[in-house]
Amino acid sequence: MRSIETKDIRVENSHLYLTKKGNRMNQKASGYKSGNLVLPGERLGVIEEFIPDSGTYVKDGIIYSKVVGRALMDLLSKKVSVYPLTHESPVPKTSSVVIGQVGNAQSENVLVRIFKIGTKRVSGVFTGILHISDVQERYVKSMNDVCKTGDIIRTKVISKKNQVFHLSTNDKNLGVLYAFCSRCSNLLEPKRHEMECLKCGNIEKRKLALDYGKEEI
Ligand SMILES: [Zn+2]
Repeated sequence: MRSIETKDIRVENSHLYLTKKGNRMNQKASGYKSGNLVLPGERLGVIEEFIPDSGTYVKDGIIYSKVVGRALMDLLSKKVSVYPLTHESPVPKTSSVVIGQVGNAQSENVLVRIFKIGTKRVSGVFTGILHISDVQERYVKSMNDVCKTGDIIRTKVISKKNQVFHLSTNDKNLGVLYAFCSRCSNLLEPKRHEMECLKCGNIEKRKLALDYGKEEI
């Protein structure tokens, strides 16, 4: 296997420098390092665990990085990819306002697949988590009253750990932008403090952004 010696690596068009402390420090069996800077030839994981995606290659069942970039894992699809650092595409930062689609939803938190940072579309896969305590100041009983799988939601990044972005909707401009009926998938219309499906009559709840239904996706 290729080993990488201790050295500083200057990344083109960026202020990032990569210092490797040792070539074997992260070579565990499930050596996946989400969010970490990786180098070409660096081991990301094995095909039994992950699905290789862009910026990677497979040799003898092991997934390696093809480029200098950040290793990303899509929590929903188990895909591992490397997001090239020379890319000019934006990456979410703390306090970025991001737009994404709600994926897996549970009673205490939901996963959000981020596709827009500010007004810019992203080409990498960034997954965020919105926890019930970061929805709003007031008490929320269940995430079921905030958003549902498939909804489009605007949130703010409040912190970042292992390339998973922790999100908040605690502002009147943040919240669901498009909500879909969980019975028939029709776009829901706001009605007083609830959401109504004009097709099947279903009534649901959401935490809406002030400009619900207006953002161009
Ligand atoms: Zn409906």
